[in-house]
Order: sequence, then structure tokens, then C-alpha cells
Amino acid sequence: MPRPSANRVHSGTMFGSRTDIGCVREHNEDSLVVAPPLYAVADGMGGHAAGEVASEVAVRSLAENAPSTVDSEGLGNAVMTANYAVINAAQEKGRNGMGTTMTAALLERDKLAIAQVGDSRAYLLHQGTLQQITRDHSLMADMIEAGEITPEEARVHPQRSVITRALGSDPDMQPDLYEINVSAGDRLLLCSDGLTTMLEDSEIEKILIRTRDPQRCASILVNEAIAAGGHDNVTVIVVDVEGDRERQVKKTKRKGRAWAVVIVLALIATVLGVCYGAYTYTQSTAYLADENGKVAVYQGVPDTVLGISLSHLDHVTDVNVDDLQPGVSARLKEGVIRADSLDAANSLVDGYQEDFAAGKKPTAEAEQLDASTDAAASSSSADASAGSTSSAQGGTLQ
Ligand code: MG
Repeated sequence: MPRPSANRVHSGTMFGSRTDIGCVREHNEDSLVVAPPLYAVADGMGGHAAGEVASEVAVRSLAENAPSTVDSEGLGNAVMTANYAVINAAQEKGRNGMGTTMTAALLERDKLAIAQVGDSRAYLLHQGTLQQITRDHSLMADMIEAGEITPEEARVHPQRSVITRALGSDPDMQPDLYEINVSAGDRLLLCSDGLTTMLEDSEIEKILIRTRDPQRCASILVNEAIAAGGHDNVTVIVVDVEGDRERQVKKTKRKGRAWAVVIVLALIATVLGVCYGAYTYTQSTAYLADENGKVAVYQGVPDTVLGISLSHLDHVTDVNVDDLQPGVSARLKEGVIRADSLDAANSLVDGYQEDFAAGKKPTAEAEQLDASTDAAASSSSADASAGSTSSAQGGTLQ
């Protein structure tokens, strides 16, 4: 019979196992097989020697006949073959009543198949929650399902060890079969009733969650069952599911690509947002400039970025630059006069034209403009909007 060694990694799984006689029994009638992808627990019955033989014959037959891939039907056939092997062994030894449970699992990547007979169990720890996969073939399970007793009452019921299906007696015995998709990080537990009669599922769950190493986990589970009384032989197999590595790698790559796309799109959106904000700001301002001797109104700012102009000509007025007050005229010839908005720039021109209509050149007040700050421009532009004349020449010299 294959026996477990220390933890080993095989086919993307890591496992641990342990079996113990317990505190009361004189013999260990449990057997187990750990031969990845095959894992199984068998709990023999029939008295001294018979139980040990039954479970050992069963797991040996199972190991010889189980498929090497996750195939629930093939696993079920192997369990039925083991059933015949136990029946034959019982007849050869003249031991009627010799039998065994069998909880067998095939686990590879993200596929799990289970064949179940009796009251040994398979559990799956998934995302921190322990779920019993198999249904017990026992009188207690039947009575609980019928609502006749509670699980707590079953735990101390005098007939709690009566099982309703086993290997070794009925040639037509059929195992229950399960096929389950599992995920990386899941943990499979196979155990005999020596564990589940001693520990509550919640206690088992806590140990499975907090003990990372599967071999240490299996040992702790057995130790706790013994500490709780060890009334029966106790056998535990813990198998960690690593899942489909190729799928995991592809999934990780897909996630990485998706994140890269998101980051690039976010950067593009940020750059576009900044550019749009800057462009919007520049287009909210205006300035006056000398356009072939005429005062021209531009929208934007008199700058370029990467060779791209940040302004465009709105219109050329009929105001001659040379007709303006000398200081203003000189500024336009040397640079531009900024305004807070297109309206403010037009108001400046209106002021010039009103001065001309009144028969005078724009006053020297224009020369008092403080061309050093935008604040000055803003203040003067506000005056311009209010209809002032020469004082409306608010702006900053560029
Ligand atoms: Mg037992």
C-alpha cells in the first residue's frame, strides 16, 4: 500500500497525510493511498484483522486500477473493482462482514473527481469556507436528512457507527460520483470518521485555514482528534490545489495587458485634459497688435508651442497705429497690448475710435498703463467694459 512521505510537489499540488491508531483501538484499520493524482482514505470494519485487511485490499486494488487522469467514471469503476477485491478476500478468509469505506479522489490542475462509499469524507476549503463534498452512507445521515435527529444528537447516538453502504458485501454496490471544478488556493481534505466524530467542522476549518503547510496541517488535525479523545483510528489527507498554471499565467498576462491599456488611456486622457484646459484658457484672452500699420485684434496669446500658434487673427480695424497716442503706438510697434478677453480688446479699439470722433488722439493716460502685470490688465479691461474711453486702453505690453 502506498504510504505518504513528507510533503512533495507533484503536478502542481502539494499534500500531506497522516494516519494514527488513536487512543482506544488496538489496531489501525484505516488505510490510505497518496499517489498523485490519486488520493484515498479507507476505513475498514469487521473486527480484528478483517478491517485492516479490507481497507488495505481496497486501496491496493484502487491504486492498481484508478485512471491516471481526472475521470470520475474511471474512478468509479476502480472503486467497484476494489469492491470485488474485498468480497473475494472476505470469501477467501471466510470473514463475512469484512468491509471498508472508500473515499477516493483524482485531482489534477483545476479538476477534481471523487468516488464515495461509506462515511469517510471529502471536504473542500474554498475561499476560507469548508464545505463537505460527499454525503455519508450512514444511518445517522439518513436520520438527519429525515429530520429525526440533529447533527449534534447524531454525534453521540448509540448507532452512530452504522453505515449503509460499504465495499465488501454487495457485488452491485455503486459509489457516489462527484466532479468539481476547483481553484488555485483551494484545499482538499479526505478523512476517516475518526476525525469528524472528534472535531466539529468549524474546528477543522480553522486548522485548515491557519496551517499553511499541508503536512503540518494533517498532523495537527490528527493531534487534535487524539486530544479530543481519539476514540477511533484517524486518517487525514490534505491536498493544496494550485490550479491550472497555464490558465493562471494567461490570466495574469491578460490582467497585466488590461492594466497597461488602462494606464496608457488614463495618461492620454490626462494629457488631453491638460492640453484642452490650457488651450481653452489661451483662447479666452486676446491682444492688440500692429498689422501692416492697422490695429488688429487677435484672440489667444501671442505665443507658440511646438511651432503651433496659440492665437488667431479676429479682425483688422481701420485704426491706424500711427494715429494713436505716441506711447501706445510705440508699444504696438514693439509688441502687443494684452486684454483679458476679446470683448475687452474690442472695447480698447472702441475707445480709440471714440477719441478720434471727439477730435483728439487717445490721451496720455494710455501711457500710464502699468504693463507689468496681468492684474493691471484685468482692472483696465473692466473699465473698458464700463464704457470708459482712453482709460479703456487697459492691457499689458508684450
Ligand atoms: Mg472509523
